[in-house]
Amino acid sequence: MSSTTTWVGLNRNIPKVKTIRLANGREKSHKMYIDGQWVSADTEKTFKVHNPATGALVAKIADGGEFETKQAINSADLAFKTWAEISAKERGQILKKARQIMSERVDEIARLVVLENGKPFAEAKGEVNFALGYFDWFAEEARRAYGSLVPSPSTNKRLWVQSQPLGVVAAITPWNFPAAMIVRKIAPALAAGCTVVLKPAEQTPLTALAIAQVCHDAGVPPGVLNVVVGSNPIPISEEMLNNPKVKKIGFTGSTEVGKLLMAKAAKSLKRVSFELGGNAPFIVFDDADLEAAVDDAIAIKYLRVGGQSCICANRIYVQQTIAQKFVTAFVAKTKKLKIGSGFKAGVHCGPLINETARKKVHRLVEDAVARGAEVALGANYLSEGDYAQGSFYAPTVLLKVEDLWPICQEEVFGPVASIMTFQSEEEVIRRANNTNYGLASYLYTRDLGRVVRVSEALEYGLIGVNDAAGYTHEIPFGGVKESGLGREGGKQGLEEYLEVKSIVMNLPH
Ligand code: NAP
Repeated sequence: MSSTTTWVGLNRNIPKVKTIRLANGREKSHKMYIDGQWVSADTEKTFKVHNPATGALVAKIADGGEFETKQAINSADLAFKTWAEISAKERGQILKKARQIMSERVDEIARLVVLENGKPFAEAKGEVNFALGYFDWFAEEARRAYGSLVPSPSTNKRLWVQSQPLGVVAAITPWNFPAAMIVRKIAPALAAGCTVVLKPAEQTPLTALAIAQVCHDAGVPPGVLNVVVGSNPIPISEEMLNNPKVKKIGFTGSTEVGKLLMAKAAKSLKRVSFELGGNAPFIVFDDADLEAAVDDAIAIKYLRVGGQSCICANRIYVQQTIAQKFVTAFVAKTKKLKIGSGFKAGVHCGPLINETARKKVHRLVEDAVARGAEVALGANYLSEGDYAQGSFYAPTVLLKVEDLWPICQEEVFGPVASIMTFQSEEEVIRRANNTNYGLASYLYTRDLGRVVRVSEALEYGLIGVNDAAGYTHEIPFGGVKESGLGREGGKQGLEEYLEVKSIVMNLPH
């Protein structure tokens, strides 16, 4: 940042910070981050975060609402002008610094992810490393928000098109990727010159606050990033939706909540971008590398937050001729998965996020079984011994499932694999597309012609061809149909935070 840049503090009555002591006597700063300061809620209320593996209290957090959100929006609004005016290169340098600081804190932040989300530590580290990559990518992309000079139809006029930052952006994020979903939003917003008010999920505020600390330490100026945490999303989101200073709502979460937010955002025509739910088909043709297909199906089904991922395989379609072999290998490998606390060495899957999530998964499994599904593995709670205090569910494999049952139409969001068979390419395309969702899909085949035909016919924003490792920073990510609007990552990720302006200049005679 240039030395001439000055930052306008809000000079408001921010309540005095209260120290919160945990049972073990340790102090922690679990306050919100508004206007570059760590603050308690105006009401001085707190809410609790629990470890989903043990039920233990992890922390008490300041419980923010409308008042704090309004303050954060005011701060973001004041900071916007100055932040937008500094050069993209300078903003990028601050983001690069954030990337560096976050990379020095990977273990520390991953530990918080495990504590509040439950995923295994190695997976949490992978997420944090992936998250910080967005700082890097958008630090560089900031310098490429090109405009254009357009040939004019009149000799006495000149036309050009340029991009400018939107202004204050509100971001609402989920608990399943508490680091990646945040950085994937704030990095492009800050790179573009926008300022941000972030509301992370109630279950995972600590990771969000740790990322705020990273940005603070990197020199992100006061007001440019604000994090409001709270136990009730409604007053926070209502203020975001109704406040005219907010120009855009970026949301990652369920399709149900996305629709609610869109309806409310329509009142003031706020821009929206949504990353919503998924119902990914995983298609294995009989010419595929079977071993690779089984390994990848296991990975994308169980090894991403134990199946609580928007891009996890929800429906596995295997061509009839190889179905027996596939199922045998899939069940054998699933049996080897270790379930437990994310801090235990060798654990592959942690608990579900809470009891409500576990009940929902079990309801879908019981419904499928009542309709005639065959249980090849699992279909039960894990609640003995080390599992007693957590919301663990056994890795489950169901066979003889049908497309229109709730287990195939809803997002299961748990460690449940439904395996079905198909005969022809045309049939599996039709069945794979038979859902309101359209986020991720996977196909396994060695036939190049089929790769082109099937990937062009699948109605999804992401197609993995012999690949289920997900995606990367360099390409846009997002869904079609009811899985979302807009894209995150890639060069498109920056465009979501820019407004296009056309300038028409009449030349003096
Ligand atoms: P969720 O219930 O929709 O919550 C997401 C966020 O919205 C949380 O911060 C939540 O706050 C807030 N929220 C909940 N109800 C709200 C309301 N009525 N008004 C305003 N805000 C509200 O989703 P989730 O259970 O956290 O996350 C899982 C969902 O996210 C799945 O559907 C998954 O597929 C989707 N997801 C999509 C992507 C993607 O990239 N497409 C990535 C990850 C997850 P509280 O926590 O305080 O309730």
